[in-house]
Amino acid sequence: MSVDYSYIAAEAKSQIEAASDKAAIEGLRIKYLGRKGVLQDHMAKIPELAPEERRAYGSGLNDLKNNISAWLAEKEAALGVAAPPSAAGYVDVTLPGKKPVLGRLHPLTQVEGQICDIFCRLGFKVFKGPEVETEHNNFVALNIPLEHPSRDAFDTFYIKKCQVSGVRCQEKAHDIGNMTQETLLLRSHTSPAQIRAMKAAEPPMAVIMPGRVYRPDAVDASHSFMFHQVEGIAVDAQIRFSDLKGVLIAFAREMFGKDTKLRFRPSFFPFTEPSAEVDISCFLCKAKGCPACKKSGWIEILGCGMMHPHVLRSGGYDTKKWRGFAFGMGVERIAMLKFGVNDIRLFFENDMRFLEQF
Ligand SMILES: [Zn+2]
Repeated sequence: MSVDYSYIAAEAKSQIEAASDKAAIEGLRIKYLGRKGVLQDHMAKIPELAPEERRAYGSGLNDLKNNISAWLAEKEAALGVAAPPSAAGYVDVTLPGKKPVLGRLHPLTQVEGQICDIFCRLGFKVFKGPEVETEHNNFVALNIPLEHPSRDAFDTFYIKKCQVSGVRCQEKAHDIGNMTQETLLLRSHTSPAQIRAMKAAEPPMAVIMPGRVYRPDAVDASHSFMFHQVEGIAVDAQIRFSDLKGVLIAFAREMFGKDTKLRFRPSFFPFTEPSAEVDISCFLCKAKGCPACKKSGWIEILGCGMMHPHVLRSGGYDTKKWRGFAFGMGVERIAMLKFGVNDIRLFFENDMRFLEQF
């Protein structure tokens, strides 16, 4: 038995030479060298041969196989078709890339930043006090005596008999040092920062104090046990209520639009005298009346007044030389008005569908 190698070789060679693309070359590789290819067909006949014929037959086929492989590689190189790369090292640069998830500022952080930015341009400096405060700074120093009924409005969470460093604020500037014997609490307003700011700076001074505050309120659409305030004070020798009005009007026009009007209503706060609540003309309906302003055209936005002498003294200031004004506002309230959010809980649930809108 013999096989006509030259015929197979000639046919393979002419077909490979005629191949015009990668697919054609691959097809010929399978046709001749594949598991069910022409050469394999002939290999399968080896066992049928007489033992003395097997060597010559086999080596002939082997030469043919080497030749066909070489012709295929040659043609492939000529066509500029590289060998198929391995899956592991293969990068398809035409595929779209993976988009990194971009972070953004929380809506409350944005609003807090806007508020502070406006007051900084008016000459205020930012001062931050600790969230764990002394009972003294949160109440007594601010003219809220222990038994005074107004204290109920500022009730908070207490940390009693704290003698372990565990609840101490780690920041040195916030060191509550030797006061660990005293009743500690989570501050119920940013006002205790006034006391710390006055102790840290000589008058005249003007500071803005943003931060988290706590009250044991049941959570609902308009209440949270934790929320944010921004508070400001300015102390100088001749400072007057008209200066306070000027600062607040400048702030409101920058924050809510240049046509914003302000309305001061007499009020009571333990730490200011006289005190006022401030409404702005509704920027949503241009004071025509809408659900946000309860059809009145006015929105309550902050509380303010001239600093009570007791507070100035608590900060170590001489009330014969110095006087000051103070104001404070809720960040959530302003953010809800600005963004049209009707439920305070949305700010704290970390639902990306909500947060991605800002
Ligand atoms: Zn309105």
